Amino acid sequence: MVQSFPQPPLTLPELLAPAGSLEKLRVAVHYGADAVYLAGKQHSLRARAVNFSEHELRQGVDYAHNHGVKVYAALNIFAHNNDLDELASSLAFLAAARVDACIVADPGVIRLAKQRVPAMPLHLSTQANVTNLEHARFWEEQGLHRLNLARELSLQEIEAIRAAVDCELEVFVHGALCISYSGRCLLSSYFTSRDANQGDCAQPCRYSYALVEEKRPGQYFPVIEDERGTYIFNSRDLCLLRHLPALVQAGVNSLKIEGRMKSVGYVGAVVHLYRQALLWIRAQVSAGANLHSLVLPQEFFAELETIGTRGYTENFFQGSPDAGDTLHQASRLAQSHVPVGLVRQAEPLFIETRHMLAVGDEVECLVPGRFQPLSARVAAMEDEKGQAQERAHAGRLLRIQLDPEIAELSPHSLLRKKLTG
Ligand code: SF4
Repeated sequence: MVQSFPQPPLTLPELLAPAGSLEKLRVAVHYGADAVYLAGKQHSLRARAVNFSEHELRQGVDYAHNHGVKVYAALNIFAHNNDLDELASSLAFLAAARVDACIVADPGVIRLAKQRVPAMPLHLSTQANVTNLEHARFWEEQGLHRLNLARELSLQEIEAIRAAVDCELEVFVHGALCISYSGRCLLSSYFTSRDANQGDCAQPCRYSYALVEEKRPGQYFPVIEDERGTYIFNSRDLCLLRHLPALVQAGVNSLKIEGRMKSVGYVGAVVHLYRQALLWIRAQVSAGANLHSLVLPQEFFAELETIGTRGYTENFFQGSPDAGDTLHQASRLAQSHVPVGLVRQAEPLFIETRHMLAVGDEVECLVPGRFQPLSARVAAMEDEKGQAQERAHAGRLLRIQLDPEIAELSPHSLLRKKLTG
């Protein structure tokens, strides 16, 4: 029932975004992340993300802190003995660089961190697979400041863990899923010698598979879903957008978006969507609505279609997933829009192109603090020497004129266009 008196402002959980590079960090901050997670060149579970040099990491921390945003650094490998000296140096460097917490999974790394950087808050990585409240209590007793809960939990299990511990809880709300427990999988090691548990997964779960009978080597029996075969281990992507009110009510402290390997366009669009959804929830509650009965409007879900995806699943949030939670027909689904440019300068307007762009194209601009994108037509483009351009490939720096002009654009804003055909 809607109450007639205003409520005190709702405290929202932190929105935690992936920052696979300095540029992605700035875009995540631009679109409303409260915190970002990143990694140096070693020791994280994303060895092939661009990741940060020491100089870039210091720059990233300064930039984030100047915008009131926290930075967490991933040190979540399962270490071997010969990693330990370098890990000790990394911990000292991260403390000196003023990161706000380290993300860890290996008890040995946790012990080392407590010895070498005792004041550093430690966040338990999803790699540690916290699936029950005794497991959560154990890590709380070890002094962990925050636990990222396993993606294999239901809402009821999250609520029970919340009631059992006082430390912060973090939940993945959006992004790619493993078909194993959060990366604890040897598929990539077998097929490509790239170790998922050292951050180097080649994602062979996304390959197209066929069946071979032992006595008929070389005879591949197609497992037919359609003419392209089937992708039997290709999980759909996680999306808990619909359950944000329940997660806020459950007292989760941080909502994490997966994707340090994803593009800058993806990071900006997903952070923008979740920030707008959280602001909408707070506005509704301030106007007297009950949190537990809130239903996000359809526009939020329409916006999801503009972002590249394998289709979406809510995974274990309301019960075990079934065959419908795997995308069998293809490795990915087609997306309706594609990022075409990143604003480098607003006045005059310079963008770096990320896709083919031509004069006459209709573009949409994602503006922080505003849910609906603003539309405009590309009226003219010229290169850095002032030469008029009719069309441009990705990777160009162009001065462009939009019709109508969009005053709200600023550096790090994204432009996208609808894909045709
Ligand atoms: S192969 Fe797939 S399931 Fe295995 S670790 Fe890599 S992404 Fe996860």
